[in-house]
Amino acid sequence: MSARVLVVDDVWVNRRLLEAKLTAEYYEVAMAASGAEALAMVAKWSPDVVLLDVMMPEMDGFETCRALKNNLATAHIPVVMVTALIDRSERVRGLEAGADDFLSKPVDDATLFARLRALLRTKQVQDAWRLRAETARQLGVEPPSRPLAAVAGSAVLVLADPAEAAEVGACLHADGAVPTLVGTVEEAVAALAAPGGRFDLAILCLPATGTEHLRLASRLKAQHATRDLPVLLVADPAQRDLVLRGFEIGASDYVLRPTDGNELRARARNQIRRRRYEERLRTDLDRSLELAVSDPLTGLRNRRFVQHHLEAALRAGDVSVLMIDVDRFKAINDGHGHAAGDTVLREVADRLRSQLRAADVVARYGGEEFLVVLADAPPEEAVAIAERLRAALERTPIPTDSGEASVTVSIGLAITPVGVSAGEAVAAADKALYRAKELGRNRVEVAHSPLRAPPPTQSSG
Ligand code: GH3
Ligand code: MG
Ligand code: MG
Repeated sequence: MSARVLVVDDVWVNRRLLEAKLTAEYYEVAMAASGAEALAMVAKWSPDVVLLDVMMPEMDGFETCRALKNNLATAHIPVVMVTALIDRSERVRGLEAGADDFLSKPVDDATLFARLRALLRTKQVQDAWRLRAETARQLGVEPPSRPLAAVAGSAVLVLADPAEAAEVGACLHADGAVPTLVGTVEEAVAALAAPGGRFDLAILCLPATGTEHLRLASRLKAQHATRDLPVLLVADPAQRDLVLRGFEIGASDYVLRPTDGNELRARARNQIRRRRYEERLRTDLDRSLELAVSDPLTGLRNRRFVQHHLEAALRAGDVSVLMIDVDRFKAINDGHGHAAGDTVLREVADRLRSQLRAADVVARYGGEEFLVVLADAPPEEAVAIAERLRAALERTPIPTDSGEASVTVSIGLAITPVGVSAGEAVAAADKALYRAKELGRNRVEVAHSPLRAPPPTQSSG
């Protein structure tokens, strides 16, 4: 996996050393000699990960990390602090500043590359989501998402023996997270499969032989429902190989025993926040897509959506298209006011929708014009449906804030064979609608000349 790594260190030799290791593994490397230079490089070069020295004159690693994590444009870039310090309180300080991990100097190659791969994997997923959310935002205008700070209320699955589970559970409680404690892999699988078994994080505490736990981690990563669930390993220092294998499988982070409560909390918090950030991007995306294909007044599909839908439907089979226009709508606006006009449009939309099946698409095509695409309805049935829609409006006047409005619609129906273009289908329905208006309104007209599919292309030979 090739990626851009920014190496930040005030000591030239340290920079060169890391650069040599990284370029040997085909990473693209850039270097910065101070916190300020690092911030400038990040803005200019967009690295995929930052390796950040802690002790630097002027702006130290903590301050640089905070600056990166507090900036919305750079908060998603993983930061690994590289430090000679092994003091746990310093590590916790770094995690609180938003660091994603620590490496101690001299940097061990296997650990360095395992960590980089894990961080880059997470970042790739997030980048994909961010890109899609951005595209959707351009269509639907959404405010940018902020990473959520709080982890309160998050659900954490803890797999450990009873004593360790109690210890880990207490740590999580302190942050308001809600732990579910299980003692065996089978119980963990059951908790995950239970209704409402939705977790923000899984903490797997490896026993002396941790292979069964790693199999669980691998299974979590393989299954769609749990693929994005971050996995945090707790292991003995002697289990380094198991931890590295865990990273290959997809674990996101680890803590070594004896477990420091603050470090565990900080690491759990980082994972939960990241997970919640991803979910936020996802719901933003769903909402933006919904906005991009919906009409805000009526909640029906919009013109852009129905045009695409009609094209696809006509490639797949015969389609019935109904163009529906409210009769003398201008008079309703003039008589009851524009707000009442809007109420009428919403009610027309509701009545149309309530008369149709889920597979039929109802869209607001223009001001007081609606387009319906019927999912494979035979011609007689299409005519009956159009008549039913017309009657549903005529039957009961529509109440508005300025009195009842009697509303009728005229409908043009085009029964369209597969292969006809969407434009032709709509034009035929429109023409039939025009005739319905001419013939007195409040009626259904079917397009006269049956539309024909284009002849199959001649094959020579
Ligand atoms: P016809 O029976 O021939 O269709 O007559 P009509 O009055 O319905 O047709 P016309 O196209 O002359 O008028 C449509 C009116 O719909 C004009 C426009 O102001 C109004 N209109 C378009 N969009 C909206 C809307 O979102 N809300 C409201 N209240 N009125 C709208
Ligand atoms: Mg009209
Ligand atoms: Mg009109």
